[in-house]
Amino acid sequence: MKRRSFLKNASLTGVGLGLGNSLTSCLENSSSESIDDTTSGASLPLVIATWDVQDATEEAWKILQNGGTALDAVEQGCRKEEANEEGQSVGKGGLPDQDGNVTLDACIMNQNGDCGSVVFLQNITHAVSVARKVMEDTPHVMLAGSGAEKFALEKGFKKENLLTENSKKSWESWKIKSEYSPIINIENHDTIGMLAIDKAGNLSGACTTSGLAYKLNGRVGDSPIIGSGLFVDNEIGAAVATGLGEEVVKTVGSFLVVELMRQGKSPQEACEIAIKRIVNKPNSNYKNFQVGYIAVNKKGHTGSFSIHQLFSMTKFQNGVSETIQSKYFSKDG
Ligand code: ASP
Repeated sequence: MKRRSFLKNASLTGVGLGLGNSLTSCLENSSSESIDDTTSGASLPLVIATWDVQDATEEAWKILQNGGTALDAVEQGCRKEEANEEGQSVGKGGLPDQDGNVTLDACIMNQNGDCGSVVFLQNITHAVSVARKVMEDTPHVMLAGSGAEKFALEKGFKKENLLTENSKKSWESWKIKSEYSPIINIENHDTIGMLAIDKAGNLSGACTTSGLAYKLNGRVGDSPIIGSGLFVDNEIGAAVATGLGEEVVKTVGSFLVVELMRQGKSPQEACEIAIKRIVNKPNSNYKNFQVGYIAVNKKGHTGSFSIHQLFSMTKFQNGVSETIQSKYFSKDG
């Protein structure tokens, strides 16, 4: 399932993603037992990513296979998608906010617990690399808006118009009704989150997005927020999120997944518990939005789980790429 097809079935209610009507019964998909991939998990290196992103994981795999670092692998993997103008969720070609501005959020975290992030970055395709520069060349963790753009330009990044003709057309058709609530069958956004373990056994992760389509100007989601959109602990494992960022932020989702693994949960169990934390909140509106997590532990075991169907994870390991359909919570699909 390609990311775009998943989102064809989505609606936006307020800031919530709603489901379309292709619902199937899936009680069996909500498992409380471990379904961790322990058989193939021990072989390193490996890379996993949110959604069906074969080209991006292949890029990361090449680096890992040649003995490169997990940090380089996740950066280069994310860059592949950022440069892909056909993908309307990340980097160049990302769908804009309500006012037609493409604004990017990204972060990166290495095996030492160092991290960098950019929020509301405009005119620069490779937000993930700017985030890495923030981590490596400044004493800070996060740069925002015009400051982030100025920093990127000073570091030699190219200024580009990120609003492609296709995305402009999509925005113009959206503008005809300009409905933020509800919007049926919009092509909404889906973050690329990538986690890798290199041959040395070190973990790193990265995350890049243009955020929710047609969001309010200035809105920032979970993706650039360390602990929410991404968290890496080299002793334990790493996790990354996609979906409605507001809900991930409210539960500090990726940090939660890693802490659950620290307590002995498998990556699969940890993702499931973190999703249930969102679903079981008082007055949770989970039927109307999607969140998905992927995770890997230090041993290379992996897991993924989402609220609704059609979330997937791409895994590159042993020279082979596979896209794994995620288990999900909702019995309505
Ligand atoms: N998590 C992203 C955000 O809320 C969007 C997505 O993953 O689709 O900005």
